[in-house]
Amino acid sequence: MTQYEKIDEQLSAWIDAHTEEIVETTRALLRIPSVKGEPAEGAPFGVETRKALDFALGYAESQGLTIKHLEGYAGHAEWRAPGVAEDAPIVGVLAHVDVVPAGDGWRHPPFLAEMDNGVIYARGAADDKGPAMAGLFGVLAAHAVGAPATHRVRVILGADEESGFGCVKYYFEHEEMPATGFTPDAAFPIVYAEKGIANFIVSKELSRPSSGLILESLSGGMRSNMVPDSAEAVVTGSQTDLANAASTLLPLSDVNADHQGDRLIIKAVGISAHGSTPEEGRNAVAVLAKALLTIDGWNASVREAVETVERWGADTTGGTLGVAGADDVAGPLTSNLGVVTFQDGKLTLTFNFRYPVTWDLDTVKTKIAPTLAESGFALDEIHNQAPIYIPTDDPLVATLIGVYQAETGDMSPPLTMGGGTYARAMKKGVAFGPGFPGYATGIHQSDERWPVEHLINSAKIYAKAIVRLANGQ
Ligand SMILES: [Zn+2]
Repeated sequence: MTQYEKIDEQLSAWIDAHTEEIVETTRALLRIPSVKGEPAEGAPFGVETRKALDFALGYAESQGLTIKHLEGYAGHAEWRAPGVAEDAPIVGVLAHVDVVPAGDGWRHPPFLAEMDNGVIYARGAADDKGPAMAGLFGVLAAHAVGAPATHRVRVILGADEESGFGCVKYYFEHEEMPATGFTPDAAFPIVYAEKGIANFIVSKELSRPSSGLILESLSGGMRSNMVPDSAEAVVTGSQTDLANAASTLLPLSDVNADHQGDRLIIKAVGISAHGSTPEEGRNAVAVLAKALLTIDGWNASVREAVETVERWGADTTGGTLGVAGADDVAGPLTSNLGVVTFQDGKLTLTFNFRYPVTWDLDTVKTKIAPTLAESGFALDEIHNQAPIYIPTDDPLVATLIGVYQAETGDMSPPLTMGGGTYARAMKKGVAFGPGFPGYATGIHQSDERWPVEHLINSAKIYAKAIVRLANGQ
């Protein structure tokens, strides 16, 4: 790496000399409350996300980069060093300027970007407006010091990462796919593997009994990627049956039965958790199903279905569905029964699987098919995000981790995760930073924060990484 020694020094010196500019530009971006809002003209994700895009791209243009707006969905700032062909391959730095809502409990107001003891406090400080600016200033440093390059470099900014990737979908429908790149939206040293994420929606018609207890409805969970923390069932039947059912449920904790006239409303509580770590939660639908099974008087069809819901809902390994498995890269498959509805005789279940990186969607489909057939469930729909797995000896990973290690001296092993980043939107990309080991940035929580030191160090790491990738490394 000796050929980069001199340029590395220049990049670091430029960033050190521009610390105040970097900090103040980042804080100005953080003061725009770019939470997703109502669509408006030229602002499909709300006017504030558009303002954030305009601000960041406008700044990049004022510093000599070429920018392009994509109707408020996304945009990019391109650096093309002298002599680089107009159609040279692109290195992509993919970041987002939208943020999740602030929520409560802030000591530092979420959109003032206050500085306290060298730390910037704001929604988006670490996820992902701060890191987006670290990436942009990395490119600006390369541009300013006249770094040599053979590739174009684009900082691609999206306005809808937090709720569905609508931004990058639109972007890549209209713009060229980078040959390689990274997203500064996870953690250092690097995330080289992200599990596949697949939602499976399955359903089954249940026969309605002519007498006895009748399950009118059953519901739990709002999003496939969360463990349901509440669930509810409505049961009808004779007054005697309902009273018996209520007294059967009485001793159960986490379950509450409310006898209202001709119906019994049964509610259960669980513990929510993210869909990538369902074992940390407790599925309220499974709690409810287990409670329902203590009641006598169901017809066979309903009892069997409730047993199935209990079995599949309580299991976070996928073993009861036949999809359990693991590889030694990113760990085992996880299963989350995230949404359940039973209405008008149709029971619908939505599973969120995080599957091993060496599998593909067909592996999951093949494994689950016998269980579904046996239990009489039809597979209605699948939504799939393929896994990412770039081996640690791949040049992209080796280059990025090499830069990180040289800059920090930190030899922590590369990471894998069950969550999904923007890296999936690229043909070949990984998540690279910006969280440093051992520091909690509080993303998606109150008092989200990022130390200026981390902002500046990230900018240096990104600048050096970008120059190497821009030279085909
Ligand atoms: Zn993010």
